[in-house]
Amino acid sequence: MNAEIIAVGSELLLGQIVNSNAQFLSKKLAEIGVNVYYHTVVGDNPNRLTQAIKVAQQRSELIIFTGGLGPTKDDLTKETIANLLDKRLVSDDYALQGIEQYFKQVDRVMTENNKKQALILEGSTVLQNDYGMAPGMGIQVDDITYMLLPGPPKEMNPMFISYGQDYLLKQLGEIEHIDSRVLRFFGIGESSLETEIVDLIDQQTNPTIAPLASDGEVTLRLTAKHKSLEHTKVLLDQLEEKITDRVGEFLYGYEDSSLVEEAMKIMIEKKLTIASAESLTGGQFSQELTNIAGASKVFSGSIVCYSNEVKEKVLQVNKKILETDGAVSEACAKSLAENVKSIVGSDIGISFTGVAGPDESEGKSVGTVYIGLAIKDLPTKVFSLKLAGTRSGIRSRSVKYGFYYIQR
Ligand code: ATP
Ligand code: MG
Repeated sequence: MNAEIIAVGSELLLGQIVNSNAQFLSKKLAEIGVNVYYHTVVGDNPNRLTQAIKVAQQRSELIIFTGGLGPTKDDLTKETIANLLDKRLVSDDYALQGIEQYFKQVDRVMTENNKKQALILEGSTVLQNDYGMAPGMGIQVDDITYMLLPGPPKEMNPMFISYGQDYLLKQLGEIEHIDSRVLRFFGIGESSLETEIVDLIDQQTNPTIAPLASDGEVTLRLTAKHKSLEHTKVLLDQLEEKITDRVGEFLYGYEDSSLVEEAMKIMIEKKLTIASAESLTGGQFSQELTNIAGASKVFSGSIVCYSNEVKEKVLQVNKKILETDGAVSEACAKSLAENVKSIVGSDIGISFTGVAGPDESEGKSVGTVYIGLAIKDLPTKVFSLKLAGTRSGIRSRSVKYGFYYIQR
């Protein structure tokens, strides 16, 4: 729980008194494991106090106020908070009893004005004042806990020790649920993805966003904490929506899913079978697909067409294409995808042709890759890529792109 202490009182700003309340509370909060990140001092002015609270609401889960709980005109902490939180001030019997008891104790007569002191924020928990009149209070609104304590240290210190601390411990004691969600992206680099959501990353507190890149994939782990498990899901949903509004086209799955599993899921759902023509990838696409249980539902077979002879004789790629465009070309990828589909008789034909390196080929640079995708009677698509990296990196990334394109 991240806390902020707002000490209210113009005398603090004028240098007439030292903000010893903040020091006392900081020490006490540290003892119970609450992190205090800010001390704010603000004068007895409702506008500036409102501003200070609005700032605190952005960064703190617990906001503790001291001062301004008294009966005089300049005591406006309660009123200002009530306004801002849209809470009524209601008279509280327990608080009133406390005040009456205090008056008896000091042998004084209670005035009407003193009754005003029993006004508390609607729905708040009263923190009894054993050494003065103004009761303190604690209230939770929209995930933020507010605690209002009186200014005089001789009232505030014992109130916090006897009642305030317990109130906070109870709140801390409620189990915080931690829930996380992993979003998996492909086709966008880590830095591009981060650039798209840099403001969300900068603002992150709850949920947090942790990016991780590996093997051409980027994952974002979103982690939310809340006392209600339901609400952690809401927090995650809200953040996911913000993220997908910007980079949703690259989101392919969740948690520990993989591109191949997602591609297979879609093909099973749509009852589509697939055959591959693999030059560049030499069978790696088939291998990854058949690694997954249930591949037989979708995978018809593969023709590894490493040489131009196999491309021409088995996969019937027009000799002219091979001679003019070359094996590493859009035209060849298109022909391979269409022909493997019709030769095998599957719903989808996918082809891989490219230069894995280390040397260039047909005058085409290392990393030039074409992936053909022929689906039923739809126009065949050819994706062209420029991949960087090692020979094995280029091959395995090409396979990933293949599974990615199937899902698009
Ligand atoms: P009261 O009922 O006495 O008016 P209050 O809650 O309205 O209490 P203030 O009027 O803001 O509190 O302050 C009363 C006195 O408490 C101050 O004059 C000062 O002596 C002390 N006090 C207030 N704030 C602090 C602080 N942050 N640190 C130390 N002393 C403080
Ligand atoms: Mg006062």
